[in-house]
Order: sequence, then structure tokens, then C-alpha cells
Amino acid sequence: MRTIRFYDTGTRELRPFEPRDPNAVGIYACGPTVYSRVHVGNARPYVVFSQLKRFLEHEGYGVTFVANITDINDKIYDAARAAGRESADLAREMTAHYVADTERLGLGRPDHEPLASEYIDPILDLIGALVERDHAYAVEGDVYFRVRTLDSYGSLSRRDVEQMDQGEGVEGAHLKQDPLDFALWKAHKEGEDTAWDSPWGRGRPGWHIECSAMAESLLGLEFDIHGGGIDLVFPHHENEVAQTLAARGRPLARMWMHNGMLEASEGKKMAKSVGNIRGLADVLDEVGGAVLVLYFSTGHYRQPLAFSPKSLEAAGNAARRIREAGRRLAPGDSPDELAVHRDAFFDALAEDFNTAQALPALYEWIGAANKLPEGTGDSHLREMLGVLGVESLLEADEGPPDEALELADRRAAARGAKEWAEADRLRDELLAMGWEVRDGPQGQELVRAS
Ligand SMILES: [Zn+2]
Repeated sequence: MRTIRFYDTGTRELRPFEPRDPNAVGIYACGPTVYSRVHVGNARPYVVFSQLKRFLEHEGYGVTFVANITDINDKIYDAARAAGRESADLAREMTAHYVADTERLGLGRPDHEPLASEYIDPILDLIGALVERDHAYAVEGDVYFRVRTLDSYGSLSRRDVEQMDQGEGVEGAHLKQDPLDFALWKAHKEGEDTAWDSPWGRGRPGWHIECSAMAESLLGLEFDIHGGGIDLVFPHHENEVAQTLAARGRPLARMWMHNGMLEASEGKKMAKSVGNIRGLADVLDEVGGAVLVLYFSTGHYRQPLAFSPKSLEAAGNAARRIREAGRRLAPGDSPDELAVHRDAFFDALAEDFNTAQALPALYEWIGAANKLPEGTGDSHLREMLGVLGVESLLEADEGPPDEALELADRRAAARGAKEWAEADRLRDELLAMGWEVRDGPQGQELVRAS
């Protein structure tokens, strides 16, 4: 077995991966709040932690991957109110969109995708334990976590406690014993159309407690890897750490891994307010799942990743190169002389899951295989692509549809009649359908455009 190391946000260092139980590795990654369609940036943690599960399985571990869906949240109430709809109805619709959109990435689904609304009992149990241990207090139907009762608070984000802002604004400010405290339970308010009974009155959970409760319910305490976007370290993950440690006396997770954000190409942050965000479905319509997953893989997961037409195009070219290599190969064992590149690929993943360094090893494998006779065994390439979740690139092409063949015939006829503009127009039409025309010695050939 390879030695695997990951960068742990908790200790700020590369740490050897030593799971609680090699046959029951637990990964939890924070998923979306379903108040609108997900954007392409939301797909990054989904891709990173799906691939991480595949890699650990490749290395012989048994892995359970949990990615939650936050379906109770202020943003959902606000969006539903603005649309004149019921919040539960909006959350249901956006959850269905999220599942359908991420499905198109071709990575399969997490083992569990818990909804906060279905974990109210474990949430109430956890809040109850905090109140009982005096780490939390109820006031006017709200329940707040008493931050200063936990000496280690701030250990994950390493922020100065005095400089912290829970981001809860004026809401509940007059009820808090300390501005540092944060909400575990919020009393039902006018204009909120969902609420649940609790020992402290009708209301609904705060965001942070949802994840602590769902993660513990599905993976137990001290599970192996808790992940999410780097923007979640404070306050969300800091508060998850605090809640579980204070209530149970044991840590929630053994290791914390955070992915960097997607950035617009000009070094600009991608944000709704800047207006440079693209929907995941929109990008998938343009390039398809395998190319988008390859694009994500070009960057190290911890670094910011530039999102631009150019970077998508580069991923498209890479996909084409892999498909073309695949056409020269045949099912079967790859020769030993190529193993050095395959091993370099997996060694790069073993060192903090460096897909950016693994991909060049994969291309070197292809370069070396291309020098071997046609029909060389494809097992190494299949293995590498499988861990990245883009094994579909090796699937035999279904071949162009009749509509494309007809366009190609018309193009050939136009060329024969020297109607160059018409021939070019038909070529562009084919390209828009995803087929590239190549003129070879045996006449024209249709090849998948990416
Ligand atoms: Zn979370």
C-alpha cells in the first residue's frame, strides 16, 4: 500500500492518512443550500471528494461518502418569499435540479445525501446535550452556543476570538449573552412557512448544527475526512468542530480538507454580485461531464482555479487526446514498460491528492503508448481515468447520428460543386452538433469534437 498524505486544515500540515478503520473510511463534504440552481463553482467540492473516494477505493479502502443538502436556511425562505412560493416546495425543486445537474458529471452519487429537514431529531438531541452541559442556553425560543465555554474554540480557523464575527448580523443580537455566541435553534418567525416542535418551542435549526448532527448520524464520531470549500472554514466548520466536541467530548472528524474557489479568468472572484457566475447545467450543455471533470482536475484541489473559455477549451483538447489514444488501444493488460507513468500518476495522488501533477503523468503514459503498436492493452489508462471519474472517454463511440451523416453528405456534395461557403457552413453546423469533419485520403470522416 502506498503512503498517502493529505493536508489537514486543522494542523496546517501534511499528515499521513491513517483511517479509523480501513474498511469503513468516512468522508463528509458540505453540499449546497438549495435556494437556486447550482453554479459551476458548487461542483468543485462534489468533484474533488467524489474523486477522493474513488482514489481511496483504488488504494484498497472501503469508503462511505456523505454530501449533505441544506434545505432549511434563511436564503431559502427569502428566495421562496420573493417568488411567492412555499419554501419547502422551492427547496424540493432545487434539490431535484441539483441531483440532475451533478448526475451529468458522470461521477456517480455520494453514498448518502441527507436533507437537514429529515434529521430534526438528531439535531434536537445534539442541541439538548449542549444545553445540558451548559455549553448552550435558551432565550425566548432561540438557543445559542456559548462560545467562551470551549477553550479550544478557534482551533480550526486559527482566528483571534476577539476578531470573530459569526455573520449573524443584528438577528438575535439582543438575546446573546456574548456577541461571539451563535444560533443553534431559531424561534419561529413571522414569514417563515416551516417550523418544528422542540423543547424550546417551535422553530428551526441553525445551519451549523445541521451538519454536526447529520455527519455524526451517518458516520459516527471521529470519522476520517471532513471537507468543503475553503470559504466554509469560518464560521461554519469552526462551529461544527465546537458543537460536537462540546456535546460529545470527542472530535467530529480526524482531518479537515478544503478545496479552493473557482475564479473568473481575470483573477476576479466568481460571485453572484459580480455577475460572472455560470450555471452548472449551462456549462455541461457546452462541454459535457467528462470535459468539465477533466478541467477541475487540472488544478490542485487546494488552489484557486481559473474558470475561462480558454481553460475549458484546453480540457476539451485533453479529452480529445485521450479519446484518440483510446481508439488505438485494445481491452487488455498494458505492457510493464508503461507502468512507470501509471505509478507516477498514483504517487501524485498519494501526495495530497495532486491531480494537477497526476495528469501530466497520464499524458506521458499516452505519449509512450502512442509509440507502441496499435492494439496495445488499455488497462493502465482505464485505471487512471476511472479514479478521475472520466472512464467514459474510453467508451466506444456510438458513431454519428443519421442527421450528422446527411449533413456530411451535403457538405461533400457542396465541396464537389466548389460551393465553399456552403461547405463551411455545413461544417460549422456539424461542429455545433459535436462532430468534426476530417478530410483524409479515404474521403471525409466524422470524429467526435471533444
Ligand atoms: Zn456543513
